[in-house]
This record gives sequence, structure tokens and C-alpha cells, in this order.
Amino acid sequence: MAHKIEWTEQTWNPSAGCTKISSGCKNCYAETMAIRLQAMNVEGYKNGFRFNTVPSRLNDPLKRKKPTVYFVNSMSDIFHEEMPIDYLNKIFDVIEKTPYHTYQILTKRAENMFQYLTKRPIPKNIWLGVTVENRKEGLPRIDKLRNLKASVLFLSVEPLLEDLGKINLKNIDWVIVGGESGNRARPMDKNWVLNIKKQCENEDIAFFFKQWGTWGADKIKRNKKKNGKILDGEIWHEYPKIIDQQYITT
Ligand code: SF4
Repeated sequence: MAHKIEWTEQTWNPSAGCTKISSGCKNCYAETMAIRLQAMNVEGYKNGFRFNTVPSRLNDPLKRKKPTVYFVNSMSDIFHEEMPIDYLNKIFDVIEKTPYHTYQILTKRAENMFQYLTKRPIPKNIWLGVTVENRKEGLPRIDKLRNLKASVLFLSVEPLLEDLGKINLKNIDWVIVGGESGNRARPMDKNWVLNIKKQCENEDIAFFFKQWGTWGADKIKRNKKKNGKILDGEIWHEYPKIIDQQYITT
């Protein structure tokens, strides 16, 4: 599937569908896409956005020999409560068999991720991330993440819904920030973004500003975004230090 995530190369969706669990899920892009894919009879979306495994896609990375950065499950959550443990083991087996690829795994189910990954070794080619959309639901996920030993630990602060205040960024390598898109998008305040950027600078953590979303920095809603990636006159696309820049195709 073509991807719309600019900080990765390919998406890999060995499962499809999900269930909303927190404020960041309110206008879930994957849900809207799933309804469209259901109408097109695409495999994995027979029941719309209902979670299911898609075994026909499980081995896709094994077939690709070119080293690739995969975003795992752009249309689902790998640590969803209905993910069968045997199938999750198979996903991690594929990751282990393809050390020449890099896998970015992002979840809102930080507790499930923590439980699973404290019971098996984490392959070196995995980057682990959690979504942090607000203080109440998002910040506790960072505490689970920081205690896992992956090559890169990252935060996807998207959609940013409020000022996060002081964040404990211990062990975090990369922070991605973005506003929400779509007709029902919630606005993002520039000061919320600058607060995070400053904390990243102070702690020498890579900061990636993805986009304003539907609302601009001037708090005006637009159909077409102008300067949607500019923050204080610049584009901020920093990557964690370990990354080989040749993998990134932004
Ligand atoms: S966890 Fe992600 S994929 Fe699942 S409903 Fe929430 S936003 Fe959508």
C-alpha cells in the first residue's frame, strides 16, 4: 500500500483494523481509510475497521531484498488486545529474519507492548514508539517505553491536543510532532510545539516537525495548507543519530 508517512519508506500491515482507545483516536485516519478499502473489497477490510490478522501480508518483508524502513501497521495497532500471541510471534520472527530492514513500531497500547517485549529479546532492527497526544493518556506511555531496550525509542506527538508541560525525555531518541488533519481536526497551539522543541534541544534529542495539520500556526482553518511544515521560519526534520540517511526518502 502507498504510504503517507514521510518519516518512513514503506508500510507493512500484517494486521488491519483497530479499536479506539484514547483521545488521539477520535478522528482516526485509518478508520476512514478502512471504510473506503472495504468498499473496494481489499483484503483485511471485509468487516471495515474491525481488527483482524492478514496472513497474506505476513511475509512481505521477506520478499523485499532492498534494505527498507518499514512502518509497521499504519492501519492497525500491533499490540491490539485481539492480536493472537502466536501471530505476533510470527511478525517478530519475520523481523528477526530480515536484519537488513528497519521496523518502526508505534502503539498507543504501551502496556501491552511492555508486557510482550519484556518476555522476548528486542531485535536490533526495531525502533519502538508511543503516541503522546495529551498529558493524561500520553505521558504514562513514555514511562513504559523508556524502560525497553530498543535501538531507537521515539514519541509520535500527533495529534498534539494540549500543552504537555515538562516531559521526562530520559532514554528517548526522537520526537515527532504534528497537528491533526481533516474536517473535524482539532487546532494545535504554536506554544505547545515550541515547548516540546525546546526540551528536545536542551536534551539533544532529534526533533521532527511533521505538519500543522488543518489549522495553521495563525489558528486559521484551511482547506489547502500553506507553509504547513514551517515552524518559526524553518523546516525541522531531524532524525535519530543512528539512522543511515540513505534510507530516508522525504
Ligand atoms: S490506535 Fe491508532 S489505528 Fe487504532 S483507533 Fe487509535 S488512532 Fe486509529
